[in-house]
Amino acid sequence: MNATKAEFHRIRDNAKLNAQAFIDGKFCDASNGARLETINPATGETITTFTHCGGADVDRAIAAARRVFNEGIWSRSAPEYRKEVLLKLANLVEQNRKELAVLESIDAGKTITDCLHEVGTEAVNFFRWYAELADKTFGKVAPTGDDTLALVVREPAGVAGAILPWNFPFLMAVWKIAPALAAGCSIVVKPAEQTPLSTIKLAELIIEAGVPDGVVNILPGLGETTGQAIGLHNDVDTVSFTGSTEVGRMFMRYSGDSNLKSIGLEMGGKSPFIVLDDADINDELIEHSAMAAFWNGGQNCSANMRQIIAEPLVDTFMEKMLNRVSEFRLGDPLDPETTIGSMITKEHKDMVMGYIEKGNQEGANLIVGGNSDLAGYFIEPTVFDNVTNDMTIARDEIFGPVLGVMPVKTMEEALAIASDTDYGLHASVFTRDIDRAISMARKLPCGTVSVNGFSEGDIKTPFGGYKQSGSMARDNGTEALDQYLQTKTIWISTQPVC
Ligand code: NAD
Repeated sequence: MNATKAEFHRIRDNAKLNAQAFIDGKFCDASNGARLETINPATGETITTFTHCGGADVDRAIAAARRVFNEGIWSRSAPEYRKEVLLKLANLVEQNRKELAVLESIDAGKTITDCLHEVGTEAVNFFRWYAELADKTFGKVAPTGDDTLALVVREPAGVAGAILPWNFPFLMAVWKIAPALAAGCSIVVKPAEQTPLSTIKLAELIIEAGVPDGVVNILPGLGETTGQAIGLHNDVDTVSFTGSTEVGRMFMRYSGDSNLKSIGLEMGGKSPFIVLDDADINDELIEHSAMAAFWNGGQNCSANMRQIIAEPLVDTFMEKMLNRVSEFRLGDPLDPETTIGSMITKEHKDMVMGYIEKGNQEGANLIVGGNSDLAGYFIEPTVFDNVTNDMTIARDEIFGPVLGVMPVKTMEEALAIASDTDYGLHASVFTRDIDRAISMARKLPCGTVSVNGFSEGDIKTPFGGYKQSGSMARDNGTEALDQYLQTKTIWISTQPVC
């Protein structure tokens, strides 16, 4: 950690808050002057008000994005140029990481340690990685006879929309913006209404890096106004959405009701963490179990909230895991000693508390946690055991620190329970037997399986869901570019001359 709580407080107190929309290279208010409040969920206090973009602002941003796309100064530029600008942007994010991380922390209630890592390491690497891909993405030449040359080329999709969640505000923005810009698209970005500040700050760096006006537009606002206007717009070619399954469905409908834009969906989960009977319940496994459940206060799409444990190991697992849970420290997210921040809003905290109540009512056994008595929207890490897969707390994505432990007798039972869910984002499997590991990894119906460690993979590997966790689209890896590129065949008939 490279700063103290006092230093982070000083950065917070001196931060110059920019809370305007960013359209066609300029910061501006909404045409109707509308504003919304953003609240620090760790204190319940208003941080500032910010621009709430309406339909007219969305139209203006998309017109700018289309204009610059058609001009070709970004979309048809030499890829080396896009690479150079993205590398400059990566350096600027790195230089400004502390202020960006503090903005992220106060807006989202996330710990400063996580924010610094996500902004200063992960996001910077993302810009660098996609910058390097810009001039290394090739098309194909199809096999033909000598009288034809058949080229398969990849072209930017056009104007992209990015609709973002609040749980990793800056990182999710970068997951979309970096591949879209590398591909040559223009983009309109709608941050979640709870967490606009770090994404708006990014716009200042986008100007400084030299991204042409209109290529990136940031439109803060509500889902049912700003988000819907982007989803239904006839001049948006593709939307990349990260958020709940419920809203993901709406984007499919928006597409059908407008111009059939392509829709990439990254949505929720209810992922299993499976410990087979030959696993070692060592400190490493326990650390993975605790982070799989409680990282980011459980507000994580790939959180492993159904921990399915072989019966003979349950007692040892519970004892060690509860010890580890007691080490979590809730409190001021700007204190580097804090390891769990707050829930995002009061409504969300109340909803999570409602699930804890439901777990008690349906007969699960509350072992630890379940309280929310700090000021701000905090909830203690909460563990239930004797959870069965028909209980509400085992079926719904709670998106808070509520873990259910489920004992099983066999590997087959573990697989059946793990698979019995509407979601399919992630699974972890712990075993020392390589054959069992591979069998489980092959059979689990989800987009990422991590063996002997809780991991979402990294920038090089695609991330996305099966079933109601995702559509065919993937974020990360070279696969993310597919959301922002389209494929063209150029079929050239030739006359052999010798
Ligand atoms: P959400 O679906 O409520 O909101 C996501 C975005 O959609 C926000 O920008 C919101 O303003 C917008 N939106 C809401 N209603 C809309 C509407 N009617 N029309 C258009 N846009 C609308 O999700 P959230 O609460 O911000 O985020 C939490 C969810 O995100 C969880 O389900 C989590 O699992 C998921 N998530 C998934 C991933 C992934 O990569 N799979 C990553 C992070 C979060």
